[in-house]
Amino acid sequence: MLSQKEKNEIRKVLEEEHKRLSRTSQNALTYSMNHERNIGRDSIDESMEEEIFSTEMRLHDREKFLLNKVTKQLSRLDANEIDVCDECGESISFRRLMARPVTTLCIDCKEQAEREEAAAVQTGRGGLSDADLGSDGERAPAPLED
Ligand SMILES: [Zn+2]
Repeated sequence: MLSQKEKNEIRKVLEEEHKRLSRTSQNALTYSMNHERNIGRDSIDESMEEEIFSTEMRLHDREKFLLNKVTKQLSRLDANEIDVCDECGESISFRRLMARPVTTLCIDCKEQAEREEAAAVQTGRGGLSDADLGSDGERAPAPLED
């Protein structure tokens, strides 16, 4: 069980994240509206503009996805179950929650899920050897990607 102080700390992190993501989503929306207006303007390299636009939209989808996760975590926090693993019901440590505030899995279940994911990727790659998997293992995960 988390102490009240620990819960407050997690709430602070989640609420700040919520604010940040809401702002970013708003920016993406503003951007797409400006984009509509800018179409056809001579001074803009349109292919470049298109590329920026689609990148912005991809980011926007990601922000929305994360925002949903943060919202879900806040309601788990309200229900006093933010430290309960979605998978096995064991408790998730305060340290882990602070490091990955949107996680809903304990470290054991997370590692299990990652192993299954890795196995699925490998199967999907068919004939490729391990060497072809390149630097996947070196990719540093963003704190919220969990
Ligand atoms: Zn678990």
